[in-house]
Amino acid sequence: MGSTTRTGAETRRSGLPPATEAGRRAADPPVEDRQAFVVPVAALRRQLGLRWERHCEGVLAELAVTGSEVPRGAAVAVDVVLEAVAGGVTVVGTVRAPWVGACRRCLSPVTGRLDVAVRELYAPGGDGDEIYPLEDEVVDLSLLARDAVVLELPPAPLCKPTCRGLCPECGANRNRESCRCQPARDLRWAALDVLRERPRPEGPI
Ligand SMILES: [Zn+2]
Ligand SMILES: [Zn+2]
Repeated sequence: MGSTTRTGAETRRSGLPPATEAGRRAADPPVEDRQAFVVPVAALRRQLGLRWERHCEGVLAELAVTGSEVPRGAAVAVDVVLEAVAGGVTVVGTVRAPWVGACRRCLSPVTGRLDVAVRELYAPGGDGDEIYPLEDEVVDLSLLARDAVVLELPPAPLCKPTCRGLCPECGANRNRESCRCQPARDLRWAALDVLRERPRPEGPI
């Protein structure tokens, strides 16, 4: 039989560079508590004007923009009032989630919390653009939560409004240390620099 050959192949396969294993793990489907956000609304929709308060929270995967993201495994919380209206269900309330990112000037870690007000309509035939879908008498609040979080995640966070950033010459963090590098001057501003550095004839006010 070819058992010896196969053993050899397996040995070779296990000797693949670790990057391949890491790549395979990254491709695994992310863990999500999607079911925690599903609200059956058949009973609500039997009476127009009926309202339900609902709190739900769970992990929603891959909530990220270029400059920030909800940390892996962190819960998104939804607090809303659902109301039966003609043709669907309105959802009004808040979506909350923590976020992490890197300061756009000095690259140090920045954290924050989102608290997003939401007001949306779920209706049969909704395509998730203006109106969210209401299918099988179920409202999936993860759709609304995901959109609210991604729209509010800061694309270019700052550690503080006055962050002085990194020196472009030596990389020193100018919030913590000074360096002796001369700032490279843009020639277009050179004339202005001359004016600024010239002592005022009337002296300081
Ligand atoms: Zn900074
Ligand atoms: Zn420097």
